[in-house]
Amino acid sequence: MPHARIESLFEDVLRRNAGEPEFHQAAREVFESLGQVIEKHPQYADASILERLCEPERQIIFRVPWVDDSGHARINRGFRVEFNSALGPYKGGLRFHPSVTLGTVKFLGFEQIFKNALTGLPIGGGKGGSDFDPKGKSELEIMRFCQSFMTELYRHLGEYTDVPAGDIGVGGREIGYLFGQYKRITNRYESGVLTGKGVGWGGSRARTEATGYGAVFFAEQMLATRGESFDGKKVLVSGSGNVALYAIEKVHQLGGTVVACSDSTGVVYDRDGLDFELLQQVKEVERGRLSVYAERRGAASEYRAGGSIWSIADETRIDVALPSATQNELDEADAQVLVKSGVVAVAEGANMPSTPGAVRVFSQGNVLFGPGKAANAGGVATSALEMQQNASRDSWSFEYTEERLAEIMRNIHESCAATAEEYGEPGNYVLGANVSGFTRVADAMLALGVI
Ligand code: NDP
Repeated sequence: MPHARIESLFEDVLRRNAGEPEFHQAAREVFESLGQVIEKHPQYADASILERLCEPERQIIFRVPWVDDSGHARINRGFRVEFNSALGPYKGGLRFHPSVTLGTVKFLGFEQIFKNALTGLPIGGGKGGSDFDPKGKSELEIMRFCQSFMTELYRHLGEYTDVPAGDIGVGGREIGYLFGQYKRITNRYESGVLTGKGVGWGGSRARTEATGYGAVFFAEQMLATRGESFDGKKVLVSGSGNVALYAIEKVHQLGGTVVACSDSTGVVYDRDGLDFELLQQVKEVERGRLSVYAERRGAASEYRAGGSIWSIADETRIDVALPSATQNELDEADAQVLVKSGVVAVAEGANMPSTPGAVRVFSQGNVLFGPGKAANAGGVATSALEMQQNASRDSWSFEYTEERLAEIMRNIHESCAATAEEYGEPGNYVLGANVSGFTRVADAMLALGVI
């Protein structure tokens, strides 16, 4: 830790949030960037801004009872952490995955504060979810679960209060069921209360694509600082969900080739490039596994059950990596393999997919590294654009929305790069993102008084 006060505050975070290692990791990563800022701006320390930032404004934990198809009552736990609303209503997705705990939601909510600040849009930070596992559940079970989840959560939401969206395990289908139940309970067609809605009922064009596209736009900007582009680049994208899928599509549109992607059970490796249309059909339309994609693709595809996607960089040169599955999926050893392979840029489509050891290896290896809170901010930024469209009862074209997204990603890149430069570490996007996001929230918190 760079600063005695920050170090003692971090000790406090460990003590007050015992058993939440992912939250500790996220807080440490931000704190490590803030030494100079606190020295330069003593008013932040005087007003205990960091202490306040680490304490969520509100944490909600609730029981989610639902009935499965065989008539048995099932119980899950629901969470919503409303972390910080200095810049706008709490904004951040809902994750449905068996690994979700309060600590997971706190790490994601904490990251979200700075990410949302970086977009320059009026949104605060929050996150939620449940330990519900959507895998293997029927359509009706998913609907009943979503309805029960919203039956408790609705009282905490509102377009000026808290606006959830999707994340792992929560896509357009789940947002539909959640929105339907909110509408039924409140008797309000309050479009701005959830984002990621279907385009036919209040959603924004390009929201589905936004996180993946945005991560690629961010990587494109990083590459441009070295006079490079995606053209001719060989790329690995981990995951095969919403973020991964549209990162793959955009890389291909920009002339790069994504040779592999993954899910939690395996990796597909297509030496000449993935077939995006087939992948989209299997993963998004049919909700199938990657093994099915590989089967249908035939000889052009190799499926490796249980393999690690990053080890492909040991076999062939990889130029760019876009980790887009989940937290801590890329460790120090994986990073070494990528650096040895000659990787030039890594942009995080997922939240905190690289371990601290991996980030160190990238930095020592002079790899352009875009942390998630900057690189994957395109999703939430486009959610804020969806809120704008809802507020004005308007609906923008795909091209216009995508251009707005591209512009936001250019601005985020510029703001991270300029801040890193100002603080004497040009090219350090981790520092740039943390300091730039922190400063915007901290200034708003100062202005609003001790609340
Ligand atoms: P999806 O549920 O659509 O896809 C998740 C993908 O990651 C799947 O391929 C899944 O495989 C894989 N995965 C999930 N958990 C694990 C795990 N524990 N180990 C290995 N693989 C795993 O989620 P998204 O694409 O929406 O989200 C991916 C990441 O991007 C997350 O970190 C999320 O927080 C982040 N993000 C998402 C945004 C969005 O707009 N959706 C916005 C900003 C960040 P399997 O199907 O086998 O589980």
